[in-house]
Amino acid sequence: MFDVIVVGARVAGAPTAMLLARQGHRVLVVDRAQFPSDVISTHLLHVPAVATLRRWGLLERVLASGPPPHEFFRMDFGAFAIAGPPPAVDGERYPYCVRRTVLDKVLVDAAAEAGAEVRERFTVEGLLVEDGAVVGIQGRDQSGTLVTERTRLVVGADGLRSTVARAVGAGYYHETPALTATYYAYYRGVSGRGTEIYNLGDRAVVVFPTNDDLACVFVACPTKDFGRFRTDVEGEYLAAIDRVPDLAARVRAGERVERMRATADLPNFFRTACGPGWALVGDAGYHKDPCLAAGIMDAFICAELLTESVHSGLTGDRPMAAALADYVTRRDGWFLPYLDLTTQLAAMEPPPPERVALLAAIAADPAESSRFFGVLQGSTPVGEYLSPDNVQRIMAAAAAR
Ligand SMILES: Cc1cc2nc3c(=O)[nH]c(=O)nc-3n(C[C@H](O)[C@H](O)[C@H](O)COP(=O)(O)OP(=O)(O)OC[C@H]3O[C@@H](n4cnc5c(N)ncnc54)[C@H](O)[C@@H]3O)c2cc1C
Repeated sequence: MFDVIVVGARVAGAPTAMLLARQGHRVLVVDRAQFPSDVISTHLLHVPAVATLRRWGLLERVLASGPPPHEFFRMDFGAFAIAGPPPAVDGERYPYCVRRTVLDKVLVDAAAEAGAEVRERFTVEGLLVEDGAVVGIQGRDQSGTLVTERTRLVVGADGLRSTVARAVGAGYYHETPALTATYYAYYRGVSGRGTEIYNLGDRAVVVFPTNDDLACVFVACPTKDFGRFRTDVEGEYLAAIDRVPDLAARVRAGERVERMRATADLPNFFRTACGPGWALVGDAGYHKDPCLAAGIMDAFICAELLTESVHSGLTGDRPMAAALADYVTRRDGWFLPYLDLTTQLAAMEPPPPERVALLAAIAADPAESSRFFGVLQGSTPVGEYLSPDNVQRIMAAAAAR
């Protein structure tokens, strides 16, 4: 009998298992994958995520793989660009872009080192339910043998198509269908020292320097253009990059070293994230378009919020149901403004003139640019930054200049 079984062992599940095991709870974490392995995802770690890895004692190990620090962030809107370093968090100054083959392996190893039992190549097929409460999992191990395990709590950290969420019938809210399709590939020889984001209206192009002297070059288009893109992926991908001549020259001088990856399966939603004997964390409970490149950071935040609640439920400080409800309240309170911002940006609609004027005012002031990046990385609350008073302050300062 385990205290907690976590289904999914990547950026949401492995930290959840690690943090609970570090608190002395008996934890099993299973994943149908074997590690190290990759997922469809680029992998920018915003500065708060880097600070979290430091706090967990894992940053040195992650950085030992050699990803370069992103010395600047640049969001280019054609007529102007917001550029500069994002604000430091707990002494950490740089974002990094760490391959998931590296990051997820460090996290799953840390869960095992903390005392969690890790079972790879284990596929959960269903949940055990007694008297209306989840009491365990049923799944197949790597030999195909059907295995049943019992627990006080099952945590679904099993991503967008969560088996746990489906089994408990978790409902959706704040739902917006997919707004973009995304394509990315890795290049050697594409120079760059930071994150470059080009907003081209109906396309977005992003460059992230990553491990092994590679750059991840990412292109997004609105779903309405997906059909056209799909008929000539290579041509459409390069045509988007060609709209930024300096970048196009660098990409064409480089060498593509891995196959192109793509997904259009990018819905935006919260799922009901707890019930009797179960909870959801990471993408399983909160999924959105990757335009803010925040899913990993958000999974870390959710893992910390959830494990605080679960610990208090397991130790009897609070009834588990109340503790889990508190987790969901805190999760939604923090992320709802980001979900709204994400769906606005991912719509790729021409911004209204007042939004363009605001962005131009931010771009003209280095201190303001840094605060703006603080919003994107979550260290400045988005609601506070976009409040009428703050917008008025930014516009007044621009007018005075
Ligand atoms: C194109 C794209 C680009 C992105 N770029 C970024 C970025 O730059 N920065 C960023 O922070 N985020 C980014 N994201 C988001 C980020 O990838 C996700 O938010 C993150 O991977 C969610 O982590 P997770 O652990 O919740 O789920 P996942 O990473 O999906 O892991 C779920 C795990 O559950 C396992 N699993 C599923 N079902 C079962 C089952 N039945 N039994 C056993 N195991 C199971 C899977 O094998 C998997 O290992 C991007 C996403 C996409 C699609």
